[in-house]
This record gives sequence, structure tokens and C-alpha cells, in this order.
Amino acid sequence: DIPIIFMTGWGSEKVAAEAFRQGVVDYFVKEVDYSYVSRLANSIRKAVAQARAEKEREQLREQLEVSEMRYRALAESTYEAILGLLADGTIIFGNEALQRLFYLDPKAVISTNIYDYISIGAEDGGQPTKLAEMSGREVEGTWKRSDGLLVPVELSCSPAHKGSTFDFVLVVRDITARKLMEEELRQKQMELIQASKMATLGEMAAGVAHELNQPLNTIKIATGRLRRKMRDEGDGFFDEKLALIEGQVDRAAGIIEHMRLFGRKPRVQASAVVITDALEGVFTILGEQLKSSGVEIYFEAEEGLPRVRGEQTRLEQVFLNIIGNAREAMEARERDLEGGEKDYRKRIDIRARRDGADRVLLSFSDNGCGMPKKVAERVFEPFFTTKEVGQGTGLGMSISYSIIRDFGGKIECDSKENKGTTFSITLPAAG
Ligand code: ADP
Ligand code: MG
Repeated sequence: DIPIIFMTGWGSEKVAAEAFRQGVVDYFVKEVDYSYVSRLANSIRKAVAQARAEKEREQLREQLEVSEMRYRALAESTYEAILGLLADGTIIFGNEALQRLFYLDPKAVISTNIYDYISIGAEDGGQPTKLAEMSGREVEGTWKRSDGLLVPVELSCSPAHKGSTFDFVLVVRDITARKLMEEELRQKQMELIQASKMATLGEMAAGVAHELNQPLNTIKIATGRLRRKMRDEGDGFFDEKLALIEGQVDRAAGIIEHMRLFGRKPRVQASAVVITDALEGVFTILGEQLKSSGVEIYFEAEEGLPRVRGEQTRLEQVFLNIIGNAREAMEARERDLEGGEKDYRKRIDIRARRDGADRVLLSFSDNGCGMPKKVAERVFEPFFTTKEVGQGTGLGMSISYSIIRDFGGKIECDSKENKGTTFSITLPAAG
């Protein structure tokens, strides 16, 4: 660090060149008249000043290095990706988190453009948000990973410190976990809303059923009396009309019985049902019909399934409803295809397996027309039907829902338009 001034009585150009080459700051030849002394003072002053300046510069460099290391450590130890960007999105700097979060080499991203990776607000076909516009607030967007996966991210962008080599600092946070949680919560809320809606509908149905039962009874009794009287008097016309009325009253009573069932508070006598027995019961009734309309049935059951809590005829009713709907949905799809898809085969897959230690999961999948979301959300509502008047009552699934609920189980619907529908039933194992 010490500046050296070289003095010699044997100066020459060669000596001078060698001295400077070795790093002296000045060079003097000792002259006999001592005239160099006055110049020497000046030279020393200059050398000292220069040495000081150099030392200060050195210290500054050291300080800078320390602070650079500190910042680097900060930038590298965060879970967030941090990027330095030019105003047009060119990446000048990226930290190690890029590797961890998005499998990107921080060195390889330099000079690429941030808009190659992120998209903000453009998901709905709108214009992507520009960096400058998002300055100062947190924005959600997606990051396109090199394997094509879209990662939900939260971005915050702020103008860079004055004198930096970039214009913006962008912090990118992976919010996949948060998004999943939000989605789960939303799902739970939907289920709650659905459950309370069903409960309200149930109460209403029970009330209506009760109110209608009285007048229907009266009509039924009165009609019966009239009929007997007409028959005795040999009036065939009236007898016929009255029989018609009686038939319609029976039909109305049937619907009301369904409603009562739907609205009833669970109070069931359940026994232990062998699921395959209930299914067999269903296919004794439906088997021929299904065969003649070309529906293939596949059944797969896990070994040693426990019996389930329920009542066989009621479970058969549920299965009948589901399979009946499936058949109608597949026939509708077949009509839609009209030869468009020659090898379309109507097919129902029934699977039974354990669900945890003490539940059984039974699923029915058809490859029918499926349902749009709006319909799928309402399948279990009483009187909800998309079928023509006279074709459907809209009671099948709502009754199935109440039956399964009464046995302490759960029924769910998962459907995709033009793909098919799966109804999943979970029932507690008996005992
Ligand atoms: P219904 O069959 O009398 O219309 P349901 O309660 O059995 O009444 O079904 C209600 C509605 O749910 C049907 O009208 C139909 O739109 C829809 N649905 C039920 N099951 C299926 C299925 N497997 N595929 C497509 N849509 C279905
Ligand atoms: Mg039905």
C-alpha cells in the first residue's frame, strides 16, 4: 500500500522504464545541484494523496461487496422469485427461487422477456396487464412453467431503486396451496348451501304432502261412492269417467307419497344388505329391457365387501332410478349422434369397493348425454326434470337422495356433457 518514489544517481531510460514497470509512483535522478528536491516535495504530496484516495476506494469496494453479499443472501433465501426487469419486460436478474419454483435456471432467464412466462388478467381474453400498471399492488396471474403447467401466482411489482441497472423489481409468489384451499372452502360452502336447500325443500315437501293428502282422500272416497252408485244404476259412461278420476287421484297420491318420503325426517329401520343382492333384484326387473335396448352392463366389486346399512327394496329403488336415468341419458345421446359415431355403445359401469374402514362406495357410470353444470347442481331437487311433461316427474333422484340420506349415507353426482355421468353412493357398513 505504500507509494514508492524511486531516486537514483545512476539514472537512465532503461532504469526508469524498469522502475515504473515495478510500480513506483515517481522517479527522480539525483542531480548535483539538488534541483530535484523542490520537485520531490510536490511529488510526495501527490503520492500521499493518491494513496489515500486509492485506500478509500478500496474500502468502498469492500463495503460494496459486503452489502452486495447481504442483498444476495436476502434475495436467495426467500421463497419468492425476485426478478429485476427493464420497462419492456426484459429480465436483467433473477434469483435462485426461480429454479425451485419454476425449474428455471436464473442465469438462463437473463435477457428473456417476463411476458414469456407470466400472464395477468389475460385469462378471460382481455389485454394483459403491463408491469407499470400493476406497480404498487398485488396482482394474481399465472406463470407458465416450461413443462406447460400453469402455476397460479401472486405478483407484486415496484419501481427499482434509483441508480439500479433495471427499472422494476418483480416478486413472484407461488399460491397453488392457497388456491387449493380456497377451492376446497368454496366446495364446502357449496355443499352447505346445497344441504340447507335440500332441508328447506324437504320441509316444504312434507308440508305440501300433508296438506294435499286430506283433500285427495276426500276426493278418493267420494269418487268411490259415486262409482259404486253409478255401477248399480248401470250408467257405464259415468262409471268410466269416475274410474278415470280415481286413477288420477291414485297417481297424485303416489306423487305425494314420494314427497312425504323426501321430506320425512330420517327415522329408518335399517338392516344389513348385501349390495350384490340388491343389484341382482334390480336386474331381474330391468335386465331384459336393458338387453333389448343394447345397454352393456359391467360390474366390478372388491372381494369381501361388508354388508351395508339399508333396506333392500329401498336400495333397489335407488338403483332403479339411477339406471333408468342412465338409460334415458344414453338413448338421448344416441339420438344426438344419429350415426355420427357409428361405434357408440351404451354402457353402464357399476363398481363397489370399500371406502375407508367402515363405508362402502358404490358408483354407477354411464356414457350418456351428461349434464351441464346448471342441471347437475339440481338433480336431487324434487320435481326438477329436463324431460318432457309426462316423461319425467323429477322425483327419481330426489327420492334416491332421501333414501340414501336416511341410511346415513351420501349420494353425489359428477357429470360431463356429452361424456357421461357418475352417481356415487357411500353407505355405512352394517354393524
Ligand atoms: P326425471 O328422470 O323424472 O327427470 P330424476 O330426478 O330421475 O327425474 O332426474 C332429474 C334430472 O336429472 C333428469 O331430468 C335429467 O335431466 C338429469 N339426470 C339424472 N340422471 C342423469 C344421467 N344419468 N344422465 C344425464 N342426466 C341425468
Ligand atoms: Mg328419473
